Amino acid sequence: MKLLSLHVDYIKFKPLKKALKKIPDLPEKEKITKEMKDALVVLISVEKTDSDMKKIVLELVKNVKDIAGQVKAKNIVLYPYAHLSSNLASPEKAVEVLDETEKLLGKTFKVLKAPFGYYKEFELKVKGHPLSELSREINIDGASSGHGQSGEINVGASSRLDQSGEIRFDKSGMEDKESYDYKKLLREISKSRLDTSKLKENDHRIIGQQMDLFSFNELAPGMVFWHNNGLIIRNELINFWREIHRKHAYQEISTPQILDSKLWKISGHWEKYKENIFLTEYEGRQFAAKPMNCPGGILIYKTKPKSYKDLPLRTAELGVVHRQELSGVLGGLFRVIQFTQDDAHIFCTEEQLKNEISDIISIIDFTYEKFGLKFDHVELSTRPEKRIGEEKMWDKAEKALEDVLKKKKVKYKINKGDGAFYGPKIDFHLKDSLNRTWQCSTIQLDFAMPERFELEYTDKNNSKKRPVMLHTVTYGSVERFIGILLEHTNGRLPAWLSPIQTRILSFTDRNEKYAKEVITKIGNEIPELRIDADFRSTTVQGKVKEAEMARIPYIIVIGDKEEKTKNLAVRIKGSGKIESFSIDGFALRIKKEIEKRR
Ligand SMILES: [Zn+2]
Repeated sequence: MKLLSLHVDYIKFKPLKKALKKIPDLPEKEKITKEMKDALVVLISVEKTDSDMKKIVLELVKNVKDIAGQVKAKNIVLYPYAHLSSNLASPEKAVEVLDETEKLLGKTFKVLKAPFGYYKEFELKVKGHPLSELSREINIDGASSGHGQSGEINVGASSRLDQSGEIRFDKSGMEDKESYDYKKLLREISKSRLDTSKLKENDHRIIGQQMDLFSFNELAPGMVFWHNNGLIIRNELINFWREIHRKHAYQEISTPQILDSKLWKISGHWEKYKENIFLTEYEGRQFAAKPMNCPGGILIYKTKPKSYKDLPLRTAELGVVHRQELSGVLGGLFRVIQFTQDDAHIFCTEEQLKNEISDIISIIDFTYEKFGLKFDHVELSTRPEKRIGEEKMWDKAEKALEDVLKKKKVKYKINKGDGAFYGPKIDFHLKDSLNRTWQCSTIQLDFAMPERFELEYTDKNNSKKRPVMLHTVTYGSVERFIGILLEHTNGRLPAWLSPIQTRILSFTDRNEKYAKEVITKIGNEIPELRIDADFRSTTVQGKVKEAEMARIPYIIVIGDKEEKTKNLAVRIKGSGKIESFSIDGFALRIKKEIEKRR
């Protein structure tokens, strides 16, 4: 069984039409819009493998209660949702499971069940907190996929190493018997291909294929295989990010990928987030692939005593994190399991807060202006009912955030009570060229982690104080940001980000020699230019079309005329315009454009 639970402000749904013939018609009075506020919506796919009805219902109830307890939900909406699985149980069984579950949950919660077997329209608003979206898999037979059934995690169940680190051998001296046919496995994995039939033309997965940027493979769900072209974009974005952060006096750090589970128990992620963490084992100790970078960074802070003179301490880390999601809800670069967070953490005094927040906002501003992405609005989330920290601290923190927004004349709205239990936050919502909004950057104040890790600094009077901690990201996830950028620009990236910046095409074979001279000349002017050539003996129209498909900003065709006049006919950025340049003139133009990141 697969679940996706969403903690929502509200959900509305209305049955429209029967999706399955053999389902009985709903009575007229049921064919209306139903709504529930402040609910935990549980999207459910009952699967063929859910053979023991009684057990699966009990497990489901246990899981829902567990999640509802964590997010403090009193209302439950059970929502049959076929799209989480490709291995669905029969409708009869699914209905039975849902009915039984409704009955049992009804003893503790207010429960609403969406009709089974109907096409429904629905609308919901998911709360933004870290636990508002959780996916789980329930597997009674114990053959869990490692998603942690009912809160338990299988650690190293398939580990073939014993604690001494040696591979186990059976009596015959052969390696532990496990039979597989590698050729059969190879045929299975060769099927992984992008199905474009359901994607829109401007979907970044299609653009990514046309530009040869990245791919996905079933063997690593939700993890990106970067091709050379895609990696160039990623590296350029990272260079840009590094430059800005260096200017703003950040130190860059890097922390390990897997860390002892002790750390996650200290940080609090273990209680709140265990289901989404990848676990592994080493020398009898339990390790976790980091779902966040902060705890690792804190360990660096703690390596040396700090004084007020060390603050504000600004650290930045491009940390690769892993978070478990059900493979059914993944979607290209937008929803991945492994991603790179452009994380930054600032440790400062209360007095320094305003300055720091203001400085972060100027980084965010500067970054997005570069990409022609405008802020749609900013949301300030304030203290929730359940929280830690003194009232005085919250007053100060919220005021600091709001004062800075006012001073910077940022349009913002207040989400009262929507902050994290450990501090208020600001979320930045961007608008892209298709009028869609995206939340990428955040600034989050944190009173909890300095407390849990007992962070300290010595103040002017030589007494120990706790620093305040700020978490912030600019791109958010570098992978997701590249997806947004590709759709925002339809792949027409500015020259500095383009994997191939210029391509030279020969009109006929006899122009090849001169075309090579042109490449050498331009290369002498701009050695770092990413320039390539297409000298194949196919039609020039075909070669232009291919170069346009790869979104190369400058395409230069060299024919007899160009050889004679020594001028270049340059096709500019898919505009259909062809402009004439001298070789030096062209080199100068593109050099400036790249240097200034225009
Ligand atoms: Zn953090």
